Amino acid sequence: MSKQILILPGDGIGPEIMAQAVKVLEVANDKFQLDFELTHDVIGGAAIDKHGVPLADETLARAREADAVLLGAVGGPKWDTIERDIRPERGLLKIRAQLGLFGNLRPAILYPQLADASSLKPEIVAGLDILIVRELTGGIYFGAPRGVRELENGERQAYDTLPYSESEIRRIARVGFDMARVRGKKLCSVDKANVLASSQLWREIVEQVAKDYPDVELSHMYVDNAAMQLVRAPKQFDVIVTDNLFGDILSDEASMLTGSIGMLPSASLDANNKGMYEPCHGSAPDIAGQGIANPLATILSVSMMLRYSFNQHTAADAIEQAVSRVLDQGLRTGDIWSAGCTQVGTQEMGDAVVAALQNL
Ligand code: NAD
Repeated sequence: MSKQILILPGDGIGPEIMAQAVKVLEVANDKFQLDFELTHDVIGGAAIDKHGVPLADETLARAREADAVLLGAVGGPKWDTIERDIRPERGLLKIRAQLGLFGNLRPAILYPQLADASSLKPEIVAGLDILIVRELTGGIYFGAPRGVRELENGERQAYDTLPYSESEIRRIARVGFDMARVRGKKLCSVDKANVLASSQLWREIVEQVAKDYPDVELSHMYVDNAAMQLVRAPKQFDVIVTDNLFGDILSDEASMLTGSIGMLPSASLDANNKGMYEPCHGSAPDIAGQGIANPLATILSVSMMLRYSFNQHTAADAIEQAVSRVLDQGLRTGDIWSAGCTQVGTQEMGDAVVAALQNL
């Protein structure tokens, strides 16, 4: 039976970059006889315009039925002033939570061809290959109670809650160890156990899970130190596992090591490796509609989808190789351009990857 993939382009540059990723996916589908069937729907601002909500029930139902979801990005100034509960980003949080996508994988890989695009010296980042595993459906972004209350002196006080249960920690720790096991066998768990109760439990459970992975070297690091180490000596890391808030911040920091957020894919997986795949960046309203966005993060998200949800490693490798060849040819979108390279637009970049994939 064919595998169903739901395509949700979203807003801003979302539809532009998704068009390129879909072209690549269709070529891979034919070349490797993957038997995928694609369906399209709306999310975020586009869904607000169509349905009045950022994620319609029928779209969520389609996402549940699909074997994997490929998403562009959501949000934009057009929807910035609407009620907070139906903002485009709410659609994203809802689909992640409803599909139980608790494991967010964010690789930060520096293509050697882009060493000049990094904000750090080439010798510090050359060969960089880190995987950040971020807990995605718990912690402070979802914790209750939250809100604003009035104190006795009449002043307002805002508050959030950072809860983590043993099972939530255990399952994300397992993802971290599993990933480390098939990579460099080093896992660094990042927390703030010197201050936070949730981090103390986090550390205790990670230690327990470690007993099942004697082949993986476990270390712990406070998040403030991890933020510093990522720019001081990032190659010391193989896999980092951390909570929702810390992972959000550290993965954006790691993204800059690689030159551009336009290069970084991500995967969000449930307990059965069903996943949603999306670039790490947002909808980039500042460049939307200009045909200059970098589609490679979305194209590389397709490769992650083939690898993690469908076990199609040959096809996934081929897409990554095709991207590498295009970079070898000196083609660059504006965000990764450096002197001596040829600047191309979104569509030309997509066409070049398609051609490279066909010629492999
Ligand atoms: P952003 O990631 O959209 O953009 C940050 C900067 O990076 C911008 O200068 C943009 O032009 C550039 N950029 C991003 N992707 C690029 C690409 N593929 N090629 C070239 N340049 C690229 O973040 P932002 O500006 O903070 O947010 C814009 C909107 O996106 C907001 O509405 C925000 O809520 C939303 N957002 C959505 C997601 C998501 O859908 N997962 C994530 C982050 C932000």
